[in-house]
This record gives sequence, structure tokens and C-alpha cells, in this order.
Amino acid sequence: MADTATEREAVFSAIERVAERMADEKDYLTDLDSAIGDADHGANMNRGFQAVLEKTDGMDDAEPADIVKTVGVTLISEVGGAAGPLYGGSFMSASAELADGLTPETTVAFAEAFLEKVQDRGDAPVGAKTMVDALTPAVHTYKKSIEQDDLEPVEALTKAVDAAERGVNFTTPIRALKGRASYLGWRSVGHQDPGATSTLFMLEAIQETAVSHLGDGDLEADATSPTVPDEEATPEAADGDGTEVSE
Ligand code: ADP
Ligand code: MG
Repeated sequence: MADTATEREAVFSAIERVAERMADEKDYLTDLDSAIGDADHGANMNRGFQAVLEKTDGMDDAEPADIVKTVGVTLISEVGGAAGPLYGGSFMSASAELADGLTPETTVAFAEAFLEKVQDRGDAPVGAKTMVDALTPAVHTYKKSIEQDDLEPVEALTKAVDAAERGVNFTTPIRALKGRASYLGWRSVGHQDPGATSTLFMLEAIQETAVSHLGDGDLEADATSPTVPDEEATPEAADGDGTEVSE
């Protein structure tokens, strides 16, 4: 990206945006958690990020990686529940990947390490109705966008946000297999997962920060990327009698 001071500013801006978003969505996240959990996810995340704002205030000479590590340590001690150790532990350990600053390569490594740590700690596969269902497609999409499609980080993040959103929607019709919601068994079906939703909000805040720091580049992808893999799924793709239309 750029020099350390610029990167530090970007990290502080991202923290502020995430904290602001968690405050705005506190009641919404708590409503989601009241349907399939214990109605504390919004309060937990808001308390955590308010504490992060306090703890990172004054880290004016710190390396970006150390600021991100402080985010993790603070979330572990302040958030509690399942989400605190999962998010906190991941920010803490994945921060090491940013030791050389914020580049496309280091941010891909950060994203992969973040997901790996959530899975190590929480042991939830994709499809268990957890934050993993938003995080996994977001991380895979970010990595592919950078490494194979050669997209700019902002575009890659925009695609990652789209992928996370599809992941959040995917949590609604499935049964929870991990965490508190799993106690409900089949009654968890039909409810959107709070942790997947907070993951999406964090990613959106980070993407918005990237847009404001790097410019929105060519965000053509934003308008054209479908929200659902559509070709086979839409009835219009067939000619009416079930036969595929060939061109
Ligand atoms: P708690 O369930 O302890 O009250 P929170 O309400 O803060 O904790 O967070 C709940 C969220 O944590 C869930 O919506 C889910 O996304 C996530 N979660 C719970 N257990 C796991 C797990 N084993 N792996 C990944 N995510 C999990
Ligand atoms: Mg809860």
C-alpha cells in the first residue's frame, strides 16, 4: 500500500467505521440473536468495539500489525460469548501476517489466517449456520480476486462483501449445528445467523474504508456481479419446456 503512517490511518479509519457500524446495528444483531440465541450479540459486539476505540486511542506511533493485534486482545477480553474468542483470537493471531504492512499479498494472508483461526477454535464447518458461512466465501473470493483475477484490493473487497452477503442469506434456511443456536435443533431453521451478519457488517465497513482511502477504482464489478449464481437457477434461462436455450 503505502508508508506506515498512511497504513496506520487506514487501520484507524477501519476501526472507527466498524465501531460505528456495530453501534448502529446493535439492536438488529441482538434481535437476530434473541431468535436463536441469548440476545446478547449486538451488545457484545458494540461493547467490544467501543473498548477497541479506547484501547487503540493513542497508538499513534504503532505499527499497523500491532494495532490489529490490540483489536484482537481487546475483543477477547471484552466481548465474551462465542464471538469474543473467535473474532478476538483471529484478529490477534492473523495480525502477524501484516508485519510487512498492508499489501494485496499480506491482506490475503491475513484473511486466510483469520478464517483458519476461527475454524481451529470453533470447529464449525461451512453449513453449520455460523460466522464461518459468511467468512469462508468472503475469504475465498478475496483471495481469488487478488491472486487469479488480478483485481485491485477495493474491487476484490467489493466482491468479498457480495460473497459474504450470499453467505449470510444461506444461513437462514439451514439448521444450526454449532453454538447456542444448535440447542434449538430444527427450530433454528428460518432465522438468519447473528455472527454471520456481524461478519458482513465488519467487511462492509472495511470495504467502505478501502474505497475512501484508495478511491473506488473501476467498480464496474459492483454493478455487474450477480447476487445469486443465476444462469441455471432462473427459469428464463430455459425456453419454457425445460430445454436449455443454446446460442
Ligand atoms: P453466544 O452464542 O455465546 O451468546 P454471541 O451471541 O456473541 O455468543 O455470538 C453468537 C455467534 O457466534 C453465532 O451467531 C455464530 O455465528 C457464532 N458462533 C457460535 N459458535 C460458533 C462456532 N463454534 N464456530 C464459529 N462461529 C460460532
Ligand atoms: Mg449470544
